[in-house]
Amino acid sequence: MKAPDFDYLRPANLDAALAMLAEHDGNAVPLAGGQSLMPMMNFRVAAPEVLIDLADVAELRGITRNGDHVRIGAMTRYVQLSKDPIILADVPLIGMALPHIAHDAIRNRGTIGGSLALADPAAEMPALMLALDAAIEVVGANGTRLIKADNFFLSYFETVLEKDELITAVVIPTASNTQSFGFCELTQRHGDYALAGVAVSRTDAKYRIAFFGVADRAVRVAALEDTVGDDLEKALAHLDEIEFTDDGKANAATRQRLAGVALTRALEEMTS
Ligand SMILES: Cc1cc2nc3c(=O)[nH]c(=O)nc-3n(C[C@H](O)[C@H](O)[C@H](O)COP(=O)(O)OP(=O)(O)OC[C@H]3O[C@@H](n4cnc5c(N)ncnc54)[C@H](O)[C@@H]3O)c2cc1C
Repeated sequence: MKAPDFDYLRPANLDAALAMLAEHDGNAVPLAGGQSLMPMMNFRVAAPEVLIDLADVAELRGITRNGDHVRIGAMTRYVQLSKDPIILADVPLIGMALPHIAHDAIRNRGTIGGSLALADPAAEMPALMLALDAAIEVVGANGTRLIKADNFFLSYFETVLEKDELITAVVIPTASNTQSFGFCELTQRHGDYALAGVAVSRTDAKYRIAFFGVADRAVRVAALEDTVGDDLEKALAHLDEIEFTDDGKANAATRQRLAGVALTRALEEMTS
């Protein structure tokens, strides 16, 4: 199928992009890499009247280290993340996850901001942001908000982003010497969306563990994080607190089992 008719706008900077969003009052959507939006339009799942292409908005690009944080512009593509020395040195968990995100053609165009705005519960990026204690920088008519990843995702494809707001960047604490990371995802074929996956960050004995592909959004379970360092079996029992997705790809019990397998493997990788 082909997408329904739409108008195409290409702002030259952030102010112009925000003005266009406000002017079209909910009838316009930003276009980033187009790797989700265009298929959704072609399948007529989405039918925005206006696309605002962010390709020329320089304020949304770039990866910088600022003291103890790394700032990644929303329009940064997966392929750029995979080659960037700051990411590889200071945010190694992203480097571990990238080969699992889709395929080369999609990584060449897909962006970190697009993935976070989309909030697909099976996507890797939201879980990475939770595990890394990242904040998502958002700009709209009412100014700039820095929103903890823990508070950003609401449910299936739903975030706290307002219709007149854009994600401009993510801000991630740089990895310290005492931190280690683990990542594992289980799929039917490499590059598919995860049936269950997990991103883990450990600082000394403190864990941040975010599961994806298992529920309506990327999720952490506090009781699991608190116990996992002492007793893995006991920690896995806390997976019961997740309301697992039950769909044609896997039922809830299977997803729960896979989440446990993914976490066990991710932890083994961290300690080996
Ligand atoms: C075959 C296939 C396999 C895939 N496999 C995976 C996978 O395994 N894991 C995975 O995570 N993803 C996967 N994807 C999706 C891919 O990662 C997308 O690139 C990503 O989800 C969206 O990024 P994008 O830059 O293409 O955004 P777009 O498709 O351009 O936009 C996505 C949504 O975000 C909004 N948006 C974009 N940028 C902003 C912004 N700065 N501020 C506010 N809203 C914004 C758009 O309006 C749209 O609603 C797959 C896609 C395909 C086609």
